[in-house]
Amino acid sequence: MNSVKERMIAPEEIRRQKEIMAYVRDIISRTEGGRKAFIETYGCQQNVSDSETISGMLCDMGYTITKDKQEADFIIYNTCAVRENAELKVYGNLGALKHLKTKKPNLIIAVCGCMMQQESVKEQIRKKYKHIDIVFGTHSLYRFPEILSKVVTDGGRVFDVVSSDGAIAEDLPVKREEGPCAWVSVMYGCNNFCSYCIVPYVRGRERSRRKEYILDDVKELALKGCKEITLLGQNVNSYGNDLEEDIDFADLLEMVCTVDGIERVRFMTSHPKDISDKLIDTMARESKICKQLHLPVQAGNDRVLKTMNRKYTKASYLEKIRKIKEKMPGITLTTDIIVGFPGETTEEFEDTLEVLREVRYDTIFSFIYSRRPGTPAAKMEDVISPEEKKKNFDRLLEVQDVISKEKNLELQGKVVTVLTEGKSKNNDLFLAGRTEGGKTVNFQGDDSLIGQFVQVEITEAKTWSLTGRVVD
Ligand code: SF4
Repeated sequence: MNSVKERMIAPEEIRRQKEIMAYVRDIISRTEGGRKAFIETYGCQQNVSDSETISGMLCDMGYTITKDKQEADFIIYNTCAVRENAELKVYGNLGALKHLKTKKPNLIIAVCGCMMQQESVKEQIRKKYKHIDIVFGTHSLYRFPEILSKVVTDGGRVFDVVSSDGAIAEDLPVKREEGPCAWVSVMYGCNNFCSYCIVPYVRGRERSRRKEYILDDVKELALKGCKEITLLGQNVNSYGNDLEEDIDFADLLEMVCTVDGIERVRFMTSHPKDISDKLIDTMARESKICKQLHLPVQAGNDRVLKTMNRKYTKASYLEKIRKIKEKMPGITLTTDIIVGFPGETTEEFEDTLEVLREVRYDTIFSFIYSRRPGTPAAKMEDVISPEEKKKNFDRLLEVQDVISKEKNLELQGKVVTVLTEGKSKNNDLFLAGRTEGGKTVNFQGDDSLIGQFVQVEITEAKTWSLTGRVVD
């Protein structure tokens, strides 16, 4: 691994991008009616975080952000390569923009993110989607001002996709969604090469941000009124492994907890093989760290786990869960599960159901395996039919639905502390916030409660939702 200094984008380069931003800002300030930008994000929180940087750079360049694609002068899709379905949706959306571009020839359309890191995707867009002006990959994000400025000033198309182990760009403008909760990236990339996963190929190797930058971000957010921070990384438990300084993720968590104004700290994602006793103890000890853990198991069968290159067994995973529950009784546990991994038999799938029954997760995020070209698993053979995979998937949901409902029912009648995040997504008359365990609660209340901690009695617990009423 290169030294931290070598992995940082040089400050002179960031300054150069900022000069370009000022140059574009000048052009836009002289454009009648200004310029509007529309951003659509697919995939994980890392993409959401990248989109916040894109949004920050666009605002710095004089754009205002709109939620209406039709009125936008600039449209950007930040894409995900983890599942085929999301890719197909992107192609569909890009195709549909052809009509808008014909109506508005000055419209600039860009597409970026993990999907673009794949050569075949880039070439398909070059040849078949000629109305797309800009394509850039994950490693070119910091160069976005330069890329956009080329198209704004000279027209034409720009394709900027490089393969790289990845670097870290600090000090770029970021525009976050307003509210009491924010995400802060602590590291990028992944070294694990799980056999089904495209992430290490499109996001590069693990690289940790220096703690000073992370703490500066957290302090700035606290000053703006943010109360809850989620620390983000593909595998946060490896934080610090590549830094010269002797620091690990548990140390970093403790430092974040010392920031005044921050009252809740969450993190994701953790790899089960790397979750240490030190981290479990720190979580248990530190009251600001939410007692919530997302620990992706993916499958319950040892042979399948080995083929997935997950580097733990069902027994060692369950042993970690036992320790976690012992130190933090009542912790909210969630997981990711892949059903129908190549070679997985229905008998082997039964082990996954056993894990579900034993751990009793509050929620699971489950998917039928999606073949990702370029990964080792893409070449592996299936032994069961798609219909059987679907049957297993339905059984998984059946088992989990019962557990999720039972877990939510445990909260019925109880009073929980909720951080009010805003209006409920499903009903404008309700507010929504999350418990310490990360469960969303809908309740009626005044908008003045947004950003506040409130005590809410749970009056109705369903499989997927909690409703409550504010109590004194
Ligand atoms: S740990 Fe595995 S699943 Fe997670 S990002 Fe890395 S390679 Fe992908």
